[in-house]
Amino acid sequence: MDVDLLIIGAGSGNSVPAPEMDGWRIAIVERSSFGGTCLNRGCIPSKMFIYAAEVRQIVREAERFGIEASAGAVHWPAIRDRVFGRIDPIAASGAEYRKSLPNISVHEGDARFVGERTIEVNGERITGERVVLAAGARSFIPPVTGLNDVAFHTSDSIMRIEELPRHLIILGGGFIAAELGHVFEALGSKVTIINRGNALLQQEDADISTRFTELSAKRFDLVLGATINEVRNHHRKDIAVEVTNANGSRTITGDCLLVATGRVPNGDELAVKVGGVALDERGRVVIDAYGRTSAPGVWALGDIVGRHQLKHMANADVRVIRHNLLHPDDLWLIDDGRAAPHAVFTSPQIGAVGLTEAQAVAAGVEHVAVTHDYANAAFGWALEDTTSFVKLIGDPTTGRLHGAHVIGPQAANLIQLLVQGMHLGATVEQLAKGQIYIHPALTEVVEQALLKLLDAMGR
Ligand SMILES: Cc1cc2nc3c(=O)[nH]c(=O)nc-3n(C[C@H](O)[C@H](O)[C@H](O)COP(=O)(O)OP(=O)(O)OC[C@H]3O[C@@H](n4cnc5c(N)ncnc54)[C@H](O)[C@@H]3O)c2cc1C
Repeated sequence: MDVDLLIIGAGSGNSVPAPEMDGWRIAIVERSSFGGTCLNRGCIPSKMFIYAAEVRQIVREAERFGIEASAGAVHWPAIRDRVFGRIDPIAASGAEYRKSLPNISVHEGDARFVGERTIEVNGERITGERVVLAAGARSFIPPVTGLNDVAFHTSDSIMRIEELPRHLIILGGGFIAAELGHVFEALGSKVTIINRGNALLQQEDADISTRFTELSAKRFDLVLGATINEVRNHHRKDIAVEVTNANGSRTITGDCLLVATGRVPNGDELAVKVGGVALDERGRVVIDAYGRTSAPGVWALGDIVGRHQLKHMANADVRVIRHNLLHPDDLWLIDDGRAAPHAVFTSPQIGAVGLTEAQAVAAGVEHVAVTHDYANAAFGWALEDTTSFVKLIGDPTTGRLHGAHVIGPQAANLIQLLVQGMHLGATVEQLAKGQIYIHPALTEVVEQALLKLLDAMGR
């Protein structure tokens, strides 16, 4: 079968077809559900669970505000079914819609390259004049002794389990461990997090990671700087994890194990090299400034390229690649220099954009950093907040921001103010003084932090 456009992966890849392509024959190959990781087992279900967890957390902490409340029982199957009752039909209708279009064929199966711009799926060969690789990433399973002999979960399966774990053991200390640990602890499970590093969320600015680790130690059993010696079945239903760290060796037993030790791109499973597509040393598809791989006519986007592993960045890639497919003589840059923002929807929330302080030091750029506590802002008093803060890193020469980091309630929303400022090229002075901040909204903590930075930069 020959097509004008072959798309592998119906996550972000499913958004590539545009009305201008109605005259093209398009083949979409998907081995699982339409909507990909984000819709089916990533961003969307995890945030729906997180909202339920937050409702329970608010009830649990109501007493601080003079309200007597009891969190009561958690009906896990009801929470789970509400989430997937909403999501699963969206995935199914996405597939049905594509199948209904006259110029699009949907191929449900595993694609593998067998030649230049040619894949095989369910025994059929498909050659695309243009090919878009959008096959995403999968959970990395570390080589731990005994791991493959026990029934462990990854983020793909844990959100669909039958009952709330009594004791969830999580391997890993990144955003998935932080978000899902938050969900299960808030809903009533005991949670142990075992991490190789000495802090959680080590990709964040060090001040944020340190604060998050301190606060997490109050909620979770944290085993940091850990080496996992062995994982094995314990009694009838439990799993035992043997770990060693600076405090010695111990055996942790729980009834559920989540492996959240990172994600690896799927280029190898697609055998992209057979199609002439180069991978880097970390298995990521190599692309040029316009999203082209090393194989002529083959483009790549999202997690298979692995620059960010964030849905909004995969969506941004889609917009560029769609344009570039349609306008080969007027190519857009895949990376237009705008900093990629992100959030971690754990508790407390984290939002960040641009350089961390350590990155500013490593890059040798002139910089000034300030932190400012939520406790200084009127809404921080309303929240009874004593642990949240905004950290800003400014460039004293240009008067602009290098980076911004927030840990605390609404961090994912607050950071957007600063993302917008950075994307529009605003100076710290313009951001601080060029607009009127609503009183006494939480955004005042950002205003105060910006004024503090302006002062510290001597501007
Ligand atoms: C638990 C979790 C929470 C997350 N939360 C957030 C968040 O809050 N915000 C955020 O921005 N990002 C989040 N992410 C990341 C986000 O989900 C990904 O960055 C995004 O889904 C990447 O999109 P993609 O299209 O590149 O890949 P995917 O969405 O993974 O799509 C790839 C598709 O390709 C298919 N495929 C793979 N191999 C083959 C093959 N050989 N043949 C056929 N089909 C194939 C897959 O089945 C899949 O449907 C989260 C991820 C996880 C795991």
